[in-house]
Amino acid sequence: MDADAVVIGAGAAGLAAARRLAAGSLRVVLLEARDRTGGRVRWRAFEAAEPPAELGAEFIHGPAETTMRLLREAGSAAIATGGESWVRDESGELVREEDDFAAAAAATLERASALAHDESVERFLRRFERDEALRGSVAAARAFVEGFEAADPAIASVRAIADELQSGTDSTSARPVGGYAPAFDFLRAHCVDAGVRLFLNAVVRRIVWRRGDVIVEYAGNDGVSRTVRARAAVVTLPAGILRGGDGAGGVVFDPELPAAKRAALSCIEMGHVVKVVMGFRSPFWERLHEGRYRDAAFFRSGTPPFMAYWTQMPLRSRLVTAWSGGPGTAALRNVPEVDIVDRAVAGFGALFDATTLARSELVWSAVHDWSGDPFACGAYSYVTAGGGNAREALAESVDGALFFAGEATSFDGQGGTVSGALETGERAAEEVVAALRTASPKGDVGGL
Ligand SMILES: Cc1cc2nc3c(=O)[nH]c(=O)nc-3n(C[C@H](O)[C@H](O)[C@H](O)COP(=O)(O)OP(=O)(O)OC[C@H]3O[C@@H](n4cnc5c(N)ncnc54)[C@H](O)[C@@H]3O)c2cc1C
Repeated sequence: MDADAVVIGAGAAGLAAARRLAAGSLRVVLLEARDRTGGRVRWRAFEAAEPPAELGAEFIHGPAETTMRLLREAGSAAIATGGESWVRDESGELVREEDDFAAAAAATLERASALAHDESVERFLRRFERDEALRGSVAAARAFVEGFEAADPAIASVRAIADELQSGTDSTSARPVGGYAPAFDFLRAHCVDAGVRLFLNAVVRRIVWRRGDVIVEYAGNDGVSRTVRARAAVVTLPAGILRGGDGAGGVVFDPELPAAKRAALSCIEMGHVVKVVMGFRSPFWERLHEGRYRDAAFFRSGTPPFMAYWTQMPLRSRLVTAWSGGPGTAALRNVPEVDIVDRAVAGFGALFDATTLARSELVWSAVHDWSGDPFACGAYSYVTAGGGNAREALAESVDGALFFAGEATSFDGQGGTVSGALETGERAAEEVVAALRTASPKGDVGGL
C-alpha cells in the first residue's frame, strides 16, 4: 500500500478531508488535476492595494460555520457585505431597490414545501402567473433561481430549492477579508505540514476498487501513467465530472459505481456561470449622476447575459464583477474572451448610459467560464425535479472503499457552497477513519 487513504481532488472538500485524515495519523496521498489547489475557489491579483478578484467562490452565505472556523484558524475574518442595491425598471431607468430581492424570491419559492409532489421551478411558478399581485415575486423567484442558483428553472427541483432556503443559509452574506486566498493557502500548508503527499498536475483517469483495496491511475503532466494504491479513496470530484462530463477530468470506475449512485447522479445537474471581474482606472460610476451610485453594492440589469453586477462595498475599490448565471450563459458559449469582457464592460456602462466611458476606464479583466472548465464541468450543483434525496445518496460510501465528499454531497442546505464542501470533506474523512479502524482493529493502519 502506498497510503492508507487517497484523496481525489484538492478543492475545499479534498483539502479538508486530507487534513482531517492526516490529523488521524493516516498516510494520505492527495491527487489534483490542476497545477494549483483550491478548485472552484480561484482568485487573481489585480493590484496590490485592491482586493483579489474572485473568479469562483466569493461570499460567505449565512452562518457557514465550517468556513468561519477555517478563517479563524487562518487568522482571517469576514466582513459583512453592505451598500445599496439598484435595479433597472421596466422603463430602463436605474432605481433604488428598497425591497430585498432575494427575500421576495425566497418567500415565493418556500411555498413549494407544501407541495404533495415535487415539480420543476418553472411549472411551480406558472401557478401564480395569472395573479397580477404576484407577478413581481414570480419574476424575482425566476431571476433568483437562474442567477443565484445558476440553475435552469425548467428542470430544477422546486422542493429542493425550497428545502435549502428553509434549512440552510440565511440571506446574510459576508466576504472573507482579503478573499478566500489566506484561508485556502493556510489549509494547503496545514495539509503538507501534517504529512499529506500532494501531487499537482495529476489527472485521475481510473479508479479500480474493492473493499480495503483501491488503485487509482493518474497521468502526470509528463503524460506518464502512474498508480497509487490505498485502503480507501475519498472522491471529491465535482458532480459534472462524476456524471461523465466530456471534460478532460473524466474518470472511469472499475467496477462501475452501484446503480443507486448512478441514479443519484442523474438527478444532480451543474449550473452554468460565467464570471468576469473588471478592474477600472477609477470608480467612475461613483461620480456619475451627482454621485447617486456612490454607495452602490449591487446592480440588477434585467438584460442577459450579464444580469448582475457588483462592487466590493463596503470596501471602496475599482473592481466590478459581472455575473452571468443559468441558461442565459448559453449566449456566451464559444465567444472569444475578449468579446465576453467587452459585453460585460458595455453592459455595466449601459446601466448609466456611459458605455464609452466604461470602455475607456477599463485597465484589467479576468474571465472564467465554469462550464467550459474541464475539471469542473459547471459552477455548482442543483437537484432536478423529482430528485428527492439525490445529495444524500451521492454522499453514501460504497463498500468501505469509496467515500464521497464535495459540495454536491452536502445536504443540510449548504449544497453549492464552500462551507458545505469543507464540511463534507471532514465528514468523509471521519467515515474513512471509522471504516479503517473497524477493518484493522490491531492498529496496522497508519497510527490507528
Ligand atoms: C462562479 C462561482 C461562484 C461561487 N460563489 C460562491 C460563493 O460566493 N460562496 C460559496 O460558498 N460558494 C460559492 N461557489 C461554490 C464553491 O466554490 C464550491 O461549492 C466549492 O468550492 C466546491 O468545492 P469542492 O471541493 O466540492 O469542489 P472543487 O473545488 O471543484 O474541487 C474538486 C477538485 O477536483 C479536481 N479534479 C477534477 N477532475 C479531476 C481528475 N480527473 N483528477 C484529479 N483531480 C480532479 C478539480 O481540479 C478540483 O480541484 C461558487 C462557485 C462558482 C463556480
